[in-house]
Amino acid sequence: AIALLQRAPLGSEELRRARLVCAAHGFDAGLGLLYAAQEQPSALLRHQAETRQYDALIATCTARGATQPHLWLDALRHVASLDDGEGGVPPAARQRIIAEVVAAAEREGLLPPLALVEALSAHEGTPLSLVVPLLRASLARDEALVSEAHAEAARFATDAARFEAEATALANTPRVFQRSICSKCSAPVEPPSVHFLCGHSFHANCLADGTAAQDAEPECPTCAPQRRRVREHAAMVASRAVAHDDFYRQLDEAADGFGVVADFFSKGVLSPLGR
Ligand SMILES: [Zn+2]
Ligand SMILES: [Zn+2]
Repeated sequence: AIALLQRAPLGSEELRRARLVCAAHGFDAGLGLLYAAQEQPSALLRHQAETRQYDALIATCTARGATQPHLWLDALRHVASLDDGEGGVPPAARQRIIAEVVAAAEREGLLPPLALVEALSAHEGTPLSLVVPLLRASLARDEALVSEAHAEAARFATDAARFEAEATALANTPRVFQRSICSKCSAPVEPPSVHFLCGHSFHANCLADGTAAQDAEPECPTCAPQRRRVREHAAMVASRAVAHDDFYRQLDEAADGFGVVADFFSKGVLSPLGR
């Protein structure tokens, strides 16, 4: 029957029927062959987990994991889903599969460490120490991003200091406003008009259109977006830095490392900057 299945080029409908026949007769080898033929590696993994073919399961992941790393996580989930009730996966086999997945994650570096942590957390009693090297490497990458951002923040601070010095100089020296065109409506500026130190001028009416009346210190509308971006970026960098320090402290103190990782993951602390 195996030879027959291997030889015959089957259409999708025939494959479906062949699968039903194999399932009805408990022909596991045939089913596995059909899943493989249909390029349904995740279904194949589930089948291999259900039929206790752990070596074949690991072989499937090893063969395809380089291009489809999520299969390692699928394998973990399928195995975890079998843990309840009678005839769960024997602990030794389960530990071997977990060790293989972690080894593959370290070897290939393609699995998002936190997705791995999440898949592992379905396996009760898995020690966090298994994935600590992976997490450390990932956090080191994050830390590099943060220090990069710190450097950027420092550049912004330098710029800000320079602007402030310029502003002080401007406040104490007379300034000639030469721009005679309103930056909003492009018509010649006539009184009543507002002149900003950045050099942009507006009709008082044009400025009132864009600004809330109660705004005590209106900004130049032309320059405001740029200034807002700088402010927001600086605030984000500052809050990220605090959150990362918190993460390390809590991870060191916590009994439940998985809980801390999941908590910070949900707050977006561990996602790359700028997202
Ligand atoms: Zn105008
Ligand atoms: Zn301006």
